[in-house]
Amino acid sequence: MRIIFASNNEHKLKEIKKILYKYKNNIFFMKDLNINLEIEENGKTFKENAYLKAKALYDYMTNHNIIKENDIILADDTGLCIDYLDGKPGIFSARYLGHDTSQQKKNESIIELMKGLAYDKRKAHFICVICLIKNKNIIEYYDGLFCGHISNDIKGVDGFGYDPIFIPNGETKSVALLGEEYKNKYSHRALALKKINFT
Ligand code: IMP
Repeated sequence: MRIIFASNNEHKLKEIKKILYKYKNNIFFMKDLNINLEIEENGKTFKENAYLKAKALYDYMTNHNIIKENDIILADDTGLCIDYLDGKPGIFSARYLGHDTSQQKKNESIIELMKGLAYDKRKAHFICVICLIKNKNIIEYYDGLFCGHISNDIKGVDGFGYDPIFIPNGETKSVALLGEEYKNKYSHRALALKKINFT
């Protein structure tokens, strides 16, 4: 069995390898198979985007005759939804302020927008939706939620993306400060991946 991920995001790939450590010899990324595929995320929901990514890779592998019978194709779509911002950046998390804006600037902008807000107005969650395609087009979905609030400042270097501004419920530090082991146990991505039965 090969588990093939439709992503080129090095941070995500590193996390996935750790979360699915048990399957480390079965996991392949597009670069491992020399697949150079840019996938446009123009869906209206996380589910649609996860499907678009998984289907694009499935179709590519089918058309290039490199798909094998027991291959499992996976794709995730993730976003940070902030209550005070009506769920934004949400599905636009990657495109927030434009693709070319650095993550540091995105995080600074959110901190600025929420400056002075009371704790109970700072609620947010990460959502991760995974689309899985196997056995000639059987499609399954899995999701994971990670609830918490937006911090007052940017802290920590572990993780990636919005991790330095997100404090999980029951914690006082950002995910980027809590570290890799913590994130890979409780995060949206960890919870979604752990729901999948690969056997
Ligand atoms: P996508 O799922 O690759 O479209 O990611 C959407 C955006 O959310 C990107 O800007 C990522 O940096 C950010 N993101 C995705 N996963 C995480 C995460 O686990 N923590 C923090 N930010 C994330």
